[in-house]
Amino acid sequence: MTKIMLPFIRSDLAQFTAYKPHPSSDTANSVPTQFDRLDTNESPYDLPPELKEKLAWTYQQVIETNRYPDGGYETLKDAIAEYVNESAALPVSNTAANISVGNGSDEIIRSVLIATCLGGEGSVLVATPTFSMYGILAQTLRIPVVAVGRNETNFEIDLQGAQSAIEQTQNPPIRVVFVVHPNSPTANSLTAAELAWLRSLPEHILVVIDEAYFEFSQTTLVGELSQRPNWLILRTFSKAFRLASHRVGYCIAHPEAIAILEKVRLPYNLPSFSIAAALVALQNRTLLLESIPQTLSERAKLIEILSQQPELQINASAANFIYLRLKSNSLNSQDTVLKTFHQKLRKLGTLVRHISGGLRITVGTIEENARTVNRVQAVLADLEF
Ligand SMILES: *Cc1c(COP(=O)(O)O)cnc(C)c1O
Repeated sequence: MTKIMLPFIRSDLAQFTAYKPHPSSDTANSVPTQFDRLDTNESPYDLPPELKEKLAWTYQQVIETNRYPDGGYETLKDAIAEYVNESAALPVSNTAANISVGNGSDEIIRSVLIATCLGGEGSVLVATPTFSMYGILAQTLRIPVVAVGRNETNFEIDLQGAQSAIEQTQNPPIRVVFVVHPNSPTANSLTAAELAWLRSLPEHILVVIDEAYFEFSQTTLVGELSQRPNWLILRTFSKAFRLASHRVGYCIAHPEAIAILEKVRLPYNLPSFSIAAALVALQNRTLLLESIPQTLSERAKLIEILSQQPELQINASAANFIYLRLKSNSLNSQDTVLKTFHQKLRKLGTLVRHISGGLRITVGTIEENARTVNRVQAVLADLEF
């Protein structure tokens, strides 16, 4: 752990580990594109050229670079509300007043933390393993994070542990519960028992349901929002909509919660070009989401073939990635073996994510997935158990 030399820096930040970004964003060690980049759950497909041309036209003809963006985002929020309503299982009528947008959903997570827990007012609850940004952003704000575990077989949240954490955590009490639906990295959707528990939480606790992978799972809790003023749903354009480079996320919640988030966010948090990109993506959603069935059938193929490896435990996935664990080893030696596994895959040209206890592999193109199978099999044949 490096010690911070600058005396004006908050002392707790010295112990703090930052989010490890996609290696290709680190220019010093930039990852050549010939790698299969299956470590960040992006879509393997760029925007189609005709949509890029449309965007380029917008940049040339409509966007004035000397002007601040449209800071109210009304057009984008209207388009998002329409998509959200269409995507819900039950009839719903969200409007722009139910939507807030962020520079990636990461920014909204931070705004939520600022609006609920900052200044010693609250702690947050997560069930690990889960998306690391909740804990990382909370730490940067000195907000305590309470972590409970998951069932080792089906990755369901330890609900008893979660309930007692809520009853027992004081100074400050738990104000926000973060869940991902389906979870990353374990790829499981919320179960009936988990949902019943979330519904049982009192209204002074905010429940954040992160539906980053909604387009792959096709299960959403948007239909319940109108009865639950303490629920907030997060979504992103970074995955199925192929816009990770543009950093656009959004949330859906009660208008009063939205009004608070709007107070907390930075003004002009979305660049004009990103607003334009999100609008183009929504207008062309049928075209963009046409790639989803292929991802789902490729996912099924990956799971079926790799499950034949006796060393691997692979659970069902409701997202655009698979999560695998090693069967026989104790969890401690797992991580040593998994580290080697991860490095050997990298040497062969496939980047995956090693998260304590398992490997998360994004479903890529048909060619990438074929290489994933070959390379995983090659590494397993080579590994010592
Ligand atoms: C990828 C992902 C996001 C998206 O974050 P952005 O900041 O919108 O790119 C959010 N939540 C989870 C669980 C994710 O996996």
